[in-house]
Amino acid sequence: MKGAVYERLHSNLQALSLFTVDRNLDTTLEATVKAGKSFLETLDELAEQELKARRALSTETRIKLAGFPVRKTLEEFDFDFQSSIDPAAIRELATMRFVHNAENAILLGPTGVGKTHLAIALGIEAARAGISVTFVTATQALAKLKQATERGILERALRNLCRSKLLIMDELGYHPLDREAAHLFFRIIENRYERASTIFTSNKVYSEWGEVLGDAVLASAALDRIVHHSTTISLRGDSYRLREKRRAGTPTPVIPLESRANRPLHHERKGAR
Ligand code: ADP
Ligand code: MG
Repeated sequence: MKGAVYERLHSNLQALSLFTVDRNLDTTLEATVKAGKSFLETLDELAEQELKARRALSTETRIKLAGFPVRKTLEEFDFDFQSSIDPAAIRELATMRFVHNAENAILLGPTGVGKTHLAIALGIEAARAGISVTFVTATQALAKLKQATERGILERALRNLCRSKLLIMDELGYHPLDREAAHLFFRIIENRYERASTIFTSNKVYSEWGEVLGDAVLASAALDRIVHHSTTISLRGDSYRLREKRRAGTPTPVIPLESRANRPLHHERKGAR
């Protein structure tokens, strides 16, 4: 009799897709009986376990769908090494209030200072908070849109690129954009303006974006929209990669690090609503 009940319960839990309850039933029952917990407490514990497992699974799915090149977290970021930024500014972004308000975040600075690390880490925080994320490099995204234009499916590709609540566009400015790429970039900005958030990373300061886009008028129209509701984080200092290499005793190429250190430092929050 008892055996039949046990079998039926397991098969019902499976049918209801309560897989974690099904898997943890025996151990949880044993533990709660031992601890003298009530039926209600046991039920509550099992429901909590199920919910926790489902949340973790959907976070993992969102992280996979985002297309991060590597996994980086805020916990791994050494704020003592990257002392040019205020950890509070990053913590504020990590609350995801900026995504809720469809604002942007722009991480500026030379190579190796942690821009991509922070952008990915914020993307992972978004995934943890239940927000859909897409990670692309500017070069990748614009090449895809160019191809889509040739195939006559630009609108669909643009919708697809902009489908997530948070878009992370990495490495803007590493390659100058040709006329078509600059217009496609503007389409992305227009699409997301006051609708959804984007995190940009760039090695170019704003005054150099005209050169990157190859068109001063287009650059100022794009920048206007990007920074209208935004937070800018300027990172300075030495490359973390070079420090790691130096520590390992590998000879490093000579790079004028002094010029990096003299960049202006500013955290600005514009047009906060
Ligand atoms: P950027 O995008 O600014 O060129 P990255 O974010 O790619 O630099 O950083 C280069 C490498 O150094 C990555 O492996 C990154 O995880 C690491 N890194 C950079 N800054 C830090 C930091 N402050 N703490 C921990 N790791 C860092
Ligand atoms: Mg980078």
